[in-house]
Amino acid sequence: MENSADVAVVGGGIVGLAHAYAALKKGARVVLFEREKFAVGASVRNFGLLWPIGQEPGRNLEIALKSREIWDEVAHESGLWLNPNGSLHLAYHADEKNVLEEFCSIYKDSPYRMKLLNAVEVKESIPSVKPTGLKAALWSQTESTVNPREAIRTIPIWLKEKYKLELRFGCPVHEITYPLVKSSTETWRVQKIIVCPGADFDTLYPELFRDAPITKCKLQMMKGTIAEPITPGPTLCAGLTLRHYAAFSKCKSLAAVDERYNQNSPEFEKYGIHVLLAQNNHGELIIGDSHEYGRTLEPFDRSEIDQHILKYLSTFYSVKNISITEHWHGIYPKLNGSTFMIERPEKNVVLVNGLGGAGMTLSFGLAHQIIGQEL
Ligand SMILES: Cc1cc2nc3c(=O)[nH]c(=O)nc-3n(C[C@H](O)[C@H](O)[C@H](O)COP(=O)(O)OP(=O)(O)OC[C@H]3O[C@@H](n4cnc5c(N)ncnc54)[C@H](O)[C@@H]3O)c2cc1C
Repeated sequence: MENSADVAVVGGGIVGLAHAYAALKKGARVVLFEREKFAVGASVRNFGLLWPIGQEPGRNLEIALKSREIWDEVAHESGLWLNPNGSLHLAYHADEKNVLEEFCSIYKDSPYRMKLLNAVEVKESIPSVKPTGLKAALWSQTESTVNPREAIRTIPIWLKEKYKLELRFGCPVHEITYPLVKSSTETWRVQKIIVCPGADFDTLYPELFRDAPITKCKLQMMKGTIAEPITPGPTLCAGLTLRHYAAFSKCKSLAAVDERYNQNSPEFEKYGIHVLLAQNNHGELIIGDSHEYGRTLEPFDRSEIDQHILKYLSTFYSVKNISITEHWHGIYPKLNGSTFMIERPEKNVVLVNGLGGAGMTLSFGLAHQIIGQEL
């Protein structure tokens, strides 16, 4: 028997959920297909950071800020935990302080809401930051934290209850021939199809991925607990993170930071390590990460990488006796040269992918734009 809806979304990660939400808000009847019984891809394996400070001013930052606005609305309506805790980039070396100062000067008129703090100001307000050698820090207000494991499970159920989203979990879509979407048990006739398959390049429209400048990135992560949980402050990171996000790439002073790390600690470059410390609503610490690239990636996690991450963490986080309770890795598609892949393989079918390490940050804003154009 054939079912019908206005929009079909393939993929129950954050990209698929964001498109379903945007379409439902426009009054569309939406069906969402997720291959697994519940989503287990990149969207549940991440830090849960909404991180506009990592996006360069221009289109990407605008999308990130719009996304944050929508996350606030979603959290408010659904009762999800969202902590508008901001972020702190800590500088322990003169060259890192130079980058923070240059960044503030280049982007003084941008929509970032940031402020350079001196070491005394940081020590007074955030006791978990290691005080020794701290030179300065960049405080930014725009970052927030969600608990991705809870958010990605709650949002679909909330959309079903509030907006009558038709949910099809445990239903891989194996064929799309517009206007038909076929899973192993059902066929749906729809007006629009949004395909958000994350790292699965092989099932739907594989020809789009074959020669595209896209690869996969594997990231190692850990969860830790501390004996006496402390009130979550801003998400913390330090000098290595300046090398990671595009936002800092315009700073000429970054070259000195790169050179120092490459000379003294080549393991960071080798494994693509930078270190973020997020804290969730249960007081747990989410710690990562590394970046290894390839279309096919080793399934085995290296304890050496975890050790490098924890060692670097100890240079800026003063809380001791973190007990690591979980290790895992996540994989996301990574585009070379752009932030997202939007393809229209046939009329009324849109494939959205390649949001890399910023899917939580960008998805709602991007979906708002795409659905705004399509419906
Ligand atoms: C370790 C790690 C840390 C990260 N940290 C952050 C962060 O803090 N902030 C941030 O902004 N971003 C972060 N990211 C990036 C972010 O997680 C991703 O960009 C985002 O989750 C991608 O979402 P997605 O929906 O495209 O993919 P996924 O979450 O992988 O979802 C794709 C879904 O599609 C389903 N699917 C695929 N094919 C089919 C099919 N044929 N039929 C039905 N279902 C199908 C899959 O089962 C899967 O559930 C991180 C990523 C990782 C891995």
